[in-house]
Amino acid sequence: MAVQRTDPLLQNRPARPNEPGAKRDQPAGAMHESERRQMLATIEDLFRRTAARTGFGSAGSGVLEAMGRVPREQFVPPESAHRAYDDTALALACGQTISQPFVVALMTTLLRPRRDHRVLEIGTGSGYQAAVLSHLVREVWSLEVVPELAHAAATRLQRLGHRNVHVQAGDGTHGWPEHAPYDGIVVTCGGEAVPPALLEQLAPHGHLVMPVGPADDQRLLDVTRDRRGAVRLRDVLGVRFVPFVHLPAPAPQGAGDDARSIGLAAAADSAAAAFADLALAVSSLVVPARQVRPERRIEFACSATSPQQLLARWLDEVAWAMRRQELVFATFEVAVRGDSLRATGWGQPIEATGTTPRTDPRTWSLQDPRLERTATGYRASCRVATDRQPV
Ligand code: SAH
Repeated sequence: MAVQRTDPLLQNRPARPNEPGAKRDQPAGAMHESERRQMLATIEDLFRRTAARTGFGSAGSGVLEAMGRVPREQFVPPESAHRAYDDTALALACGQTISQPFVVALMTTLLRPRRDHRVLEIGTGSGYQAAVLSHLVREVWSLEVVPELAHAAATRLQRLGHRNVHVQAGDGTHGWPEHAPYDGIVVTCGGEAVPPALLEQLAPHGHLVMPVGPADDQRLLDVTRDRRGAVRLRDVLGVRFVPFVHLPAPAPQGAGDDARSIGLAAAADSAAAAFADLALAVSSLVVPARQVRPERRIEFACSATSPQQLLARWLDEVAWAMRRQELVFATFEVAVRGDSLRATGWGQPIEATGTTPRTDPRTWSLQDPRLERTATGYRASCRVATDRQPV
């Protein structure tokens, strides 16, 4: 979810009150402990109430215990940590979301996980679903299309000691054939259909769980395949997940499309102006700013624990708008206060510029964001690895 619930039962639950005052006297560990217990009770309740549709009156064996062991507050951005145990999807960087806990429990249950299983996940996101699975199965292989998210999740999972989870940045459309077959495959982004490669990589009698359908009518499907390859589908519940992203196929070897890395830098008298200029340089890798009309306005907000990290977040947000909304920019206005940033960008859909894009932002990875003080102000820089050199 990403899940904004399309199911009325899920939508109409009263929000659990957040009472900072009530929590203040408890040590941090104990505070999360009781919130985690409450989250598990909500999940059990939702299993009971949706049993007629899902076919499961309670979570699968060991699923709630596994969720009770994962510190969800470590998987959400610091500004959402106080809501980490609410039964709701929460925003991650790059416009992505960490799924609602009930949906994580349901998808995990549908996989029928066992200790000796090897599971493939498409859409690592924060790594939370993978962390839950890592307590239940032998090996988890997880693919994430946004390199920044893949990197952050891999680092987080390693720090928390999940040694049986393997994260890789890449398009999950083709699965991860090197480690197939998988006893279970969980897809945490919604697509129009189950990618055929994933079905091929599913072991006989394994379960593949995926949200399928148009954005306004997604169904969570439980798909199995028997030994002869016959596929059976079960429609479990209406859900809404972030969309499956399909990257263009990689260029054939020898076509001259080597990976290249381009260094960009902007110097200005304030950090905010350097942030704005660097973002414009990033956008100009696709369409030069002077060829973009400022006809659409986009608001940005992010925060971080250091100016350096703030620059990284800001560039992620801009790259995300370019990738997912296919926008390029004519100008940015940025305001930085402490470690948080608010910005407005004016631009156009790439297509509306009538210009051939110089590079494809969906193939980028942003690297080494750096903010330095200079004698006259600030210098912000980064590297962008792209699949081809700008023309
Ligand atoms: N499982 C995650 C929730 C992820 S939301 C968690 O527990 O936090 C869905 C994720 O799927 C997003 O991070 C999105 O970037 C990713 N995604 C979308 N299309 C993809 C694709 N083709 N291959 C791999 N990941 C993809």
